[in-house]
Amino acid sequence: MNEHQIGIVGGGLAGLTAAMALSRHGYDIAVFETVPYPHHKVCGEYLSNEIIPYLEALGINLFAAGGKAITRFEISSIQGKKAECELPLGGMGISRYALDNLLYKNVQQRNVTFYFEKVSDIRFDGKGFTVVSRERSVKAPIVIGAYGKRSGLDKTLNRSFIQKKNDWLALKAHYSCSEFPDDLVALHNFIGGYGGLSKTESGHVNFCYLARYEVFKEFKDVSAFNVRIVSQNPHLRDFLRKAEPVFEDSLSIGQISFESKEPVVNHILMCGDTAGLIHPLCGNGMAMAIHSGKLVSECVHDFFNGQHQKRSDLEKAYKKSWNQNFKDRLGYGRIFQRLLLKPQILHWGISTLAQSETLLQKMITKTHGKIVS
Ligand SMILES: Cc1cc2nc3c(=O)[nH]c(=O)nc-3n(C[C@H](O)[C@H](O)[C@H](O)COP(=O)(O)OP(=O)(O)OC[C@H]3O[C@@H](n4cnc5c(N)ncnc54)[C@H](O)[C@@H]3O)c2cc1C
Repeated sequence: MNEHQIGIVGGGLAGLTAAMALSRHGYDIAVFETVPYPHHKVCGEYLSNEIIPYLEALGINLFAAGGKAITRFEISSIQGKKAECELPLGGMGISRYALDNLLYKNVQQRNVTFYFEKVSDIRFDGKGFTVVSRERSVKAPIVIGAYGKRSGLDKTLNRSFIQKKNDWLALKAHYSCSEFPDDLVALHNFIGGYGGLSKTESGHVNFCYLARYEVFKEFKDVSAFNVRIVSQNPHLRDFLRKAEPVFEDSLSIGQISFESKEPVVNHILMCGDTAGLIHPLCGNGMAMAIHSGKLVSECVHDFFNGQHQKRSDLEKAYKKSWNQNFKDRLGYGRIFQRLLLKPQILHWGISTLAQSETLLQKMITKTHGKIVS
């Protein structure tokens, strides 16, 4: 059986960040990831600037990779009423295909082992963990869970959020549309959902949306849904008329849960979406995933350094730091999402926000963090 000091389950933004940060201290790390890089992911692909200085400190230069600087935000109601503002912090448009691969290449240069295998179980025996895939079992005293929103592992670990029914689904595709500005991220609502538009490093526009399954299921396919429901918003109708799809088919995921989760489960330190998913309308999940990879790596480093005497001290310190940084943001995200799904309140709210750029900026600030370095 292979042994490593740290096992990381999931090589998305959270897992790769933890691997980048911890590998700098020379730890023997194994990352398990199901899908080889590069790969597309369902995501709005707007990355908040709060995390850029930290990524730069780790040697990741997103501007050099072609990321588009985004400074403006607009939101529209189903009827097309718009509010807009300059973004308080701003962000970057970059595809997950490029971003995750950039992080992977950085980690690959270090002494980190990658197993491109699906983990089916993580067992704790009182002293350490056994990470189990079909191909092997690996032992490690510390395991970081960074396997995203939802996985079979959540069932194995008997997590409570997985027991509840969720009817959200998300779709994403890239489009060619030269008219769409480089510096804008737009959030447009439609019945039972909303979609984000922003440019990526390739010059293509990413259109990613979240929809209630109960609304989507009435339609046979994505194009019918786009025509009948999404296009009721005049801005989305205009975009879909002008834009040429780049992907053959949209990417989709289902059963997305926004329930509260726990940052430590069965002694596994959870980070990124595995610890909690913020509503996508906030455009902050990627920054939070990267930030939580940083926080978990600092706590684990303190543990190996002897600053946390016992495993329980490590777990307590990580929970505290996670809650301090993310709990409020997730709460605000839930409130905003609830409002967004009430068409009358949404239309009235956007009409009000259209008259106050400051109010819109304040709402955005509530779901974002401070610059992380
Ligand atoms: C519709 C939608 C739009 C969004 N738009 C934005 C946006 O514009 N801006 C923003 O900041 N955030 C956005 N988010 C949120 C953002 O996508 C996530 O918060 C972010 O991807 C979390 O990163 P992660 O590393 O936690 O998870 P992921 O990126 O999902 O990585 C998890 C990894 O674990 C792997 N994995 C899963 N199970 C296993 C297993 N059993 N064994 C091994 N590997 C496994 C997966 O293959 C995956 O690569 C959006 C989310 C949704 C749903």
